[in-house]
Amino acid sequence: MKNKALIVVIFLSVALLGILTYLNYFNKKIYFQKFDEYSKIEVFSKYEEEKIKVCYGNKLKCTPIDYNVKGKVNTQKIGVYTITYEAEKNGIVSIRKKRVEVVDKTAPELIVEGDFNNVCPNGKVNNVTYNSTDNYDGNLTDKIEYKLNGDRIIYKVTDSSGNITTKEYDVTIKDEEKPTLILNDDSTLYIALNTKYVEPGYVAIDNCDGNITEKVKVDGTVNTQKAGTYEIKYSVEDDFGNETIVKRTVKVFAKNNYTPGVVSNKTIYLTFDDGPGKYTARLLDILKKYDVKATFFVTGYDNRYNDLLTREYAEGHTVGLHSYSHNYGLIYTSTEAYMEDLLRIQEKVKGYTGYESKIIRFPGGSSNTISRRYRMGIMSTLASKVEELGFRYFDWTIMSGDAGNTKDPNKIYQNVTGSLKENGINVVLMHDIKEYTVNSVERIIEYGLANGYTFAPLTMESPVVHQRINN
Ligand SMILES: [Zn+2]
Repeated sequence: MKNKALIVVIFLSVALLGILTYLNYFNKKIYFQKFDEYSKIEVFSKYEEEKIKVCYGNKLKCTPIDYNVKGKVNTQKIGVYTITYEAEKNGIVSIRKKRVEVVDKTAPELIVEGDFNNVCPNGKVNNVTYNSTDNYDGNLTDKIEYKLNGDRIIYKVTDSSGNITTKEYDVTIKDEEKPTLILNDDSTLYIALNTKYVEPGYVAIDNCDGNITEKVKVDGTVNTQKAGTYEIKYSVEDDFGNETIVKRTVKVFAKNNYTPGVVSNKTIYLTFDDGPGKYTARLLDILKKYDVKATFFVTGYDNRYNDLLTREYAEGHTVGLHSYSHNYGLIYTSTEAYMEDLLRIQEKVKGYTGYESKIIRFPGGSSNTISRRYRMGIMSTLASKVEELGFRYFDWTIMSGDAGNTKDPNKIYQNVTGSLKENGINVVLMHDIKEYTVNSVERIIEYGLANGYTFAPLTMESPVVHQRINN
């Protein structure tokens, strides 16, 4: 019996020992209670240190102890941070680590405003504005994508954390705007016979398709071996079928092979600009009386004296071309504008004389500086252009002064006769629209004839009189 009791005692002791061992009764430890090893928080939110309990003891009795926390969570920056909790008691050290992940779960803002009743076939919306900002990435406008899906258009933006915002709209596909087709250089070009025509090029831009220059079709050719007017047609069509057509005119001019004559001594070339006018008929009478031939550089805008063009030519004078409009602000803006005006006065003179004049005087002369106001360098361009096209321009060597303050016929007479050179070219600038000028002519002719001078009209073969070009 004693043995039985002993066995029971031993058995119970072993069991008790087992239970106590299980409860760590003999092996005291540090316990972390309610401890999460991982947590997640939204960026820019406030991170609060977790309140945990740490105790020392066993499962029956555990006494709270202090602990240290190491590590920081930067809530301004996405990432994974590690916080270390450390406790120590009676030489026992226990360390636990916690991972805190800072994440961005906030989708970007997306604002789209536009007219979706006019959407290009390729999905481009004209007059659309959009922008996107993200709480973490900032401005994401550059990252906005759009896609046309049937009759819906979807705008989409994704932030760096993969958060997506979309906006969808019903659309009507329509393109009512034609492409813009712009020709390089002027729309009317003037070139000399037997020179090479080089296409100056063009640019085509469409509201929907962007740059479509490559789709431009060019029709027409220029035969530079034959004088005449040629037309080149440029056409371009956008994806919706809107077509734009523009034309360029190329005028090929026969070049006259003139040889400038030698300077003949004691020759006077009287030239009269800006007419015909009120006093021109009287001037023609005077010239006729002395059988003196002169040169008229005529204008075209005043139609009251058109018959005098016919008379000037019929009486052996040279009818030169001054300008149709005599409007500096118009003719000196481009080669095209100048040539258009020049050909207009040439046409008018031809209509009244039957003669195609190619003798020119630039308004203000080739040395004028007023043209700088309208186009820098235009006189240099025009001077070589008109010569290239077979025209010939003349300036002057003697100013009568009638374009300035001189209104006295005696003073005009003195200015002219006092400047005459026996061994040089005498091209006299006068204006037949001024009464005092016409009143001085008779005395000038009488002086010239009395002193052995000859009066002559300018021709294609006359000696060159060009001033220095200043623009
Ligand atoms: Zn003039």
